[in-house]
Amino acid sequence: MSVSIDLTGKVALVTGASRGIGRAVALRLGQAGADVAVLATTAERAEPVANELRELGRNALALGADVADLSEATAAVDHTIAELGGLDILVNNAGITRDGLFMRMSEDDFDRVVAVNLKGCFNFCRAAARTFIKARSGRIVNVTSIVGLVGNAGQANYSAAKAGIVGLTRSLAKEFGGRGITVNALAPGFIETDMTVDLPEDVKTKSLDEIPLRRFGSSDEIANATLLLASDLGSYVTGQVLTVDGGMSI
Ligand code: NAP
Repeated sequence: MSVSIDLTGKVALVTGASRGIGRAVALRLGQAGADVAVLATTAERAEPVANELRELGRNALALGADVADLSEATAAVDHTIAELGGLDILVNNAGITRDGLFMRMSEDDFDRVVAVNLKGCFNFCRAAARTFIKARSGRIVNVTSIVGLVGNAGQANYSAAKAGIVGLTRSLAKEFGGRGITVNALAPGFIETDMTVDLPEDVKTKSLDEIPLRRFGSSDEIANATLLLASDLGSYVTGQVLTVDGGMSI
């Protein structure tokens, strides 16, 4: 059996791809040959990464949408298919945090974090599902977090949303498996991005102590794992949570 990570001729859509993990994922998929729709809150924010992909020789599309809105998600998927000629790989990566201890967490902070992280994932899976089912193929990678598996004080909203992604992923893997579609979740540990840069030093030091590899992860290391799940290498992997955390959660 020949195995390839060559994604030439494939089209990927990556949400939250203007920076951090999503940007690294979009570029890694592009380096592997895929054409990529780069989605952020506005098309202007996504455009620089789309340009980096064009410099690699790929077709790329910059899209703006609020992932929490189903109609905007549907429009983004439709636009991708119309402009790039199809959709083969969906990476649901957009996410936000609004941390705070539970007794002080506002209802709005709970609702918005669930809306962006979990409902956003649902919205894009729903918007892309028809195309994948028709093609009897497709790869979905949903970015969760190790805190969705183990919880975290101060992140009840985010942990709940990320745990929800695990349940969504496993259910869709069961529903779509017969159609040749794989659905997996990727659970990063502590990755150096805008999301973690402003965390207090004592939180960073404590986190580092809990990581057997004794360093934080990079966006590129999450992108490499995404490529595994999106390429031929992951053809028999579905319904799984791939933890990429330097051992932090063991
Ligand atoms: P980041 O640097 O803060 O980037 C967040 C991305 O999501 C940006 O592209 C942002 O677009 C986009 N985004 C936010 N809200 C959106 C919305 N409502 N609609 C559309 N796009 C939206 O985050 P990151 O650290 O790369 O994290 C990426 C994913 O990994 C998230 O799901 C996060 O929960 C998860 N994760 C991160 C870590 C970590 O340590 N960094 C650990 C575990 C899991 P704009 O640029 O337009 O704002």
